[in-house]
Amino acid sequence: MNLSKSKTFLTYLGIAIISMAGVYSCTSSDDDGGITTDDGDGTGTTELHAAFADFDSNNVTIMLSGTTVIIESNGLPNHTSPYWSNTTARSAVDPMGNTLTTPAAAVNHPLYVDPTVTSFANMAPGNIDDFNGSYSLTIPASPTLATSSSSTGLGAIGIAVSGSMIYNDEEGPNVPLDSAVGSLDYTAAHTGPQSYHYHLEPKAFSDDDDALVGIIGDGFFIYGRKCNSTGTYPTDLDASGGHTSTTQHTTTAEYHYHIENTTYLNQYYIIFPGDYQGIPNNIQ
Ligand SMILES: [Zn+2]
Ligand SMILES: [Zn+2]
Repeated sequence: MNLSKSKTFLTYLGIAIISMAGVYSCTSSDDDGGITTDDGDGTGTTELHAAFADFDSNNVTIMLSGTTVIIESNGLPNHTSPYWSNTTARSAVDPMGNTLTTPAAAVNHPLYVDPTVTSFANMAPGNIDDFNGSYSLTIPASPTLATSSSSTGLGAIGIAVSGSMIYNDEEGPNVPLDSAVGSLDYTAAHTGPQSYHYHLEPKAFSDDDDALVGIIGDGFFIYGRKCNSTGTYPTDLDASGGHTSTTQHTTTAEYHYHIENTTYLNQYYIIFPGDYQGIPNNIQ
């Protein structure tokens, strides 16, 4: 993990240096461990947030370009799952009644683990490595709150630190998540039309803690159910699970979200059931 983080750091350090080639300014680390670089257009400095160092550097590439951050991911998770290719064929019936077969692979993927909280009979069609993912999210380096919130839609609404996508609390048009919970793996993810994605607290990297979970499409980070600023569950959250405080990544209070600390179906926690409080950008 430390190696992974340092690689991410080196990746964006390298990008920051490359982006400044031919520019007269210098680079320095600030108190938060982020990289500060003059954007070269005279409007001041732009910093790549220290939290980006928590993203898996094998799956996610983070680039700072002027006052914009471009996050690209292959969509693959950096952790184990029963949804990696494996030697057990399975079939599922889609809402239209079609049987979708996921064939057996010759060997188990190194990150494959047997299903525990789900089962082959309940798993969604398609394995992680069947999806040749390419996802890109472009956000302002310093996102701002919008004058009014906006609802999230189907598909990716955020990118997790693992490399995979974050979805909201819907499984499809007129398909409530409730009916799909049985297909979620131990870290509350399954495969879908476009990618492996999380709906609920992703226990592979956030389990009742303050860990960084990922970034939402409006550019704000989302953390686990606890906040580093107090060490416990925040009590001042808005309707989207957001508030402004310090985190483990910044000594300056800033807006961020938390996984909703309200049980869903008596045992789960939905990552992001609310609206965007910032200006949403598409993950494409
Ligand atoms: Zn889903
Ligand atoms: Zn917080």
